[in-house]
Amino acid sequence: MTASPQILRTVSQVRQWRLQRLLNRETVGFVPTMGALHAGHCSLISASLAENDHTVVSIFVNPSQFAPHEDLDAYPRTLESDLDKINTNFQATSKNVSAIFVPKVSEMYPSGINLDVSKQKGAFVSVLGVSEQLEGGARPQFFRGVATVVSKLLNVVTPETVYFGQKDAQQCVVIKNLVKDMLINTNVKVLPTLREQNGLAMSSRNAYLSTEVKDKSSMIFKGLEHGESIYNKSVSEGSKEVKSSVVLSDILSFYKSDSTSNFIVEYLNASHPETLEDLETIVPGVGAIVSTAVRVPREGGGETRLIDNIILK
Ligand code: AMP
Repeated sequence: MTASPQILRTVSQVRQWRLQRLLNRETVGFVPTMGALHAGHCSLISASLAENDHTVVSIFVNPSQFAPHEDLDAYPRTLESDLDKINTNFQATSKNVSAIFVPKVSEMYPSGINLDVSKQKGAFVSVLGVSEQLEGGARPQFFRGVATVVSKLLNVVTPETVYFGQKDAQQCVVIKNLVKDMLINTNVKVLPTLREQNGLAMSSRNAYLSTEVKDKSSMIFKGLEHGESIYNKSVSEGSKEVKSSVVLSDILSFYKSDSTSNFIVEYLNASHPETLEDLETIVPGVGAIVSTAVRVPREGGGETRLIDNIILK
């Protein structure tokens, strides 16, 4: 049995812990999360444990990435079971997570934080050009909030490597640009999306869904796979480029084939993997990120937004 992780609650505790690692010449990998941990988060932690002397996980529901009307208050907060999950998964292995950073909002936002952008004061970070489209279209303050909190976390933890999931494809592009442009001394690693057996991408927001809706939601990824197979077939037949509209309309008709689902496709796009510009044609070798956001009905009213994507090569 390896030791349980140390729980660190303040920036200064993390800095003291980190200084000791530096003095010992030990490497640190970092997995930022908002908690409600699932196997997708654990896959990032496993990669960090394998590649670094120490792993830090942060659990912080970041207010600045939520608009006033979004689900900040309802977002699942399950600290005790998150800690149990980490111990159950990793205590019996050769290395456990070394430290878990669980800051209060006031620790991360010393000038305070108002969800209404027009009333905010203090320092924020924007990554222009890759934050406005796709998720940014539906959630205009989202990536400013993400880039701001990740800047703060990287500034405090100063990891050799930080781990993100492909599930949030646009977030990965935003973070890579953030690290490049702000000269942050960290490697960014992106790992594949972990899925339920039926293909549904694991997400903390799946906790909002009934079993029946979860089953139905598996069609989101099945549709993306359908589009991928159309693309791959075209490429294997020698196409030098494939019209995005062919791939996207195939996916949409797959979604429409189930008239009972009541899903609303908010967007479905083929984007350049690095610039996230809309692609009219997909060129093999350059490829595309095909991404979607789908609103699915919640039992008892309301809806949950699920996102997913597939990479065409
Ligand atoms: P979150 O707690 O949702 O902010 O996610 C924390 C990290 O876990 C982010 O880098 C996500 O992209 C990643 N992540 C979330 N879901 C998955 C998944 N199903 N597979 C792999 N990584 C994931």
